[in-house]
Formats: sequence, structure tokens, C-alpha cells
Amino acid sequence: MTNRQLALDAGHPEPPPRVGFFTDTSVCIGCKACEVACKEWNAIPEDGLTLSGMSYDNTQGLGASTWRHVAFIEQQTQQQPPTPEGRTQLPLLAGESEAAPVETTGAGELRWLMSSDVCKHCTHAACLDVCPTGSLFRTEFGTVVVQEDICNGCGYCVPACPYGVIEQRPHDGRAFKCTMCYDRLGAGQEPACAKACPTESIQFGPLDELRERAALRVDQLQESGVEGARLYGHEPDDGVGGDGAFFLLLDRPEVYGLPPDPVVTTRDLPTMWKHAGAAALSLAGGIALSFVLSGLPPLPRRKATR
Ligand code: SF4
Ligand code: SF4
Ligand code: SF4
Repeated sequence: MTNRQLALDAGHPEPPPRVGFFTDTSVCIGCKACEVACKEWNAIPEDGLTLSGMSYDNTQGLGASTWRHVAFIEQQTQQQPPTPEGRTQLPLLAGESEAAPVETTGAGELRWLMSSDVCKHCTHAACLDVCPTGSLFRTEFGTVVVQEDICNGCGYCVPACPYGVIEQRPHDGRAFKCTMCYDRLGAGQEPACAKACPTESIQFGPLDELRERAALRVDQLQESGVEGARLYGHEPDDGVGGDGAFFLLLDRPEVYGLPPDPVVTTRDLPTMWKHAGAAALSLAGGIALSFVLSGLPPLPRRKATR
């Protein structure tokens, strides 16, 4: 499905280009300016001022009151024994054996992977498919927005999201998530989180342009020896039809707590409805047939023969 078709299908006759986020985690410094800007612009309440013990991550994940979440992943690389390169190798004296291998403690360098996570504004958004009130809707920009004044708190969207993004607030059950700052987009401004990011880790713009930029960036990183660099959520033919918010990661998605192969949870709904319809038709046919047969005169009894 083209980006334009997405907005046309949602009832927007003259849509602007679809917009989104390209989050380049290789330049994220973990400052959390994006989390703070999101909270401030959207007047989101605090979500528990506790120490999690998980590195510098105290928000721990996306939720009803955390629409941006900066993950800190601490990785310990395996220590390599010192290599002889660059050293003068003296010839062994007669009778001297090879030196014993240098023992290592196993502990290597520590590296932090930092990544600012957000709603993916999926092309095929299951949260939107299951919402019975129209609280979740597709905007003219191709983004997915939830309206707090229409949400009835049924919670259907929560298990439908393949990324675990959307959540209900405990006190009234209404669901909340990132709106990609719909109010700011309407006024021609970029989202607050992208504006606040000092390193341009969060890049906002037309999705097609972002995909081109991301492809160049991942090539550049791989050519300079960053083997783990990869894109996530950029493929338009993946299980959710591609994300409106996609990422450049430095390791496997599971390391960042992202599903490696997300699939829209409502994918099988049309087939299920088709099967349910066929079953209902056969049942109705059986009942009708039984009524017709019960209205027929009884079959004549055969005389007993002696
Ligand atoms: S990530 Fe989840 S909440 Fe966001 S659009 Fe996709 S299905 Fe909906
Ligand atoms: S786009 Fe707006 S609502 Fe979404 S995470 Fe960024 S600041 Fe928050
Ligand atoms: S503002 Fe930018 S650099 Fe700072 S944590 Fe967020 S994404 Fe990373």
C-alpha cells in the first residue's frame, strides 16, 4: 500500500506526504531530552518516581504516561587476550617451552546501547482495527492518534498492539500513547521530542525521505566497521506493512526489547469472519430445512404382510 493510499483509505481526500520518525540510535547520548519534551508538551503526569536499578533507565518502558522511553542497555564485551602484534618476539632459548596463554578475567569493555522508543505508527495498525469507538484513528499525515475524550476504556487496543506500546491509565482505564504531536503537525511544527533532541538521533520528516537517509546511514556505518548496524521497521512488506517510526539499531532488536518479527494481530480477522459467516449460513440452512421437513405430511405406513 502506498503512503498516499493509506490516508485516502482513511477518508482524507487530499493528504499531505506521510510523515514519520527515523531514530538513529548510533548517535543517541541518553540525555532524555526527548522524554522530558514529550512530557512537557503533552502535559503527561509523572509515572512513578522510583529507582529501577536498571542502569539509568527509570521509566523502564512505554506506557500510558511514558510516550517516549529512552532504553539503556549495558553490554559487557568478552575480553580478548593480548595479541603479540606490535611486540618483538624473542626466539625461545633451548629447552624453554611456549609461554602459557595469558589468563583473562572474561570481563571486557562495557558499552551502552541507548535508544529512544516510541509508538511505531504502523501501516497496518491493529490498535486502530479493534477500537470500537473510533477513538483511535488515522490522520491525514498517516499517523495513528488516540483521542482521550472518545476512549471508553474497553482496553481492546492494548493486547492488539504487537509492540506493547499503548496502555490504559489505572484510575479511569482510558488508553494513551504518542500522537506524533498531532497538534504541532497541524500547525506546521515538528514533534516536540524531535525538536528537543540535541544529536538529531530523532529525525522527523516525510517517510520516503527518511527511508533514503536511513539506507545511506546504515551503509556508511557498515563500511566503517560497525557490523551490527541494521535498520528495523523500515520494510514496507514486513508483518505490519512497515512502521511510520523506524530505527537504526546497533544490535539485534531483541536486545532493545523489540519483537524481531512483528505481525499485525488482526491479520487473520477477514479469514476468521469468512469462516464464521460460512458456519452461520450452514447452521441457518440446517434449521430452515428442519422446519420445511417438519411441515410435510407424514409418510404413509406400509401394511404389514403376512
Ligand atoms: S505500535 Fe501499537 S499502538 Fe502504535 S500504531 Fe502500531 S499497533 Fe498502534
Ligand atoms: S511525537 Fe510528540 S507525543 Fe510522540 S513521543 Fe514525540 S513528543 Fe511525545
Ligand atoms: S534527546 Fe536525542 S540524544 Fe537525548 S536521549 Fe533522546 S534521542 Fe537520545
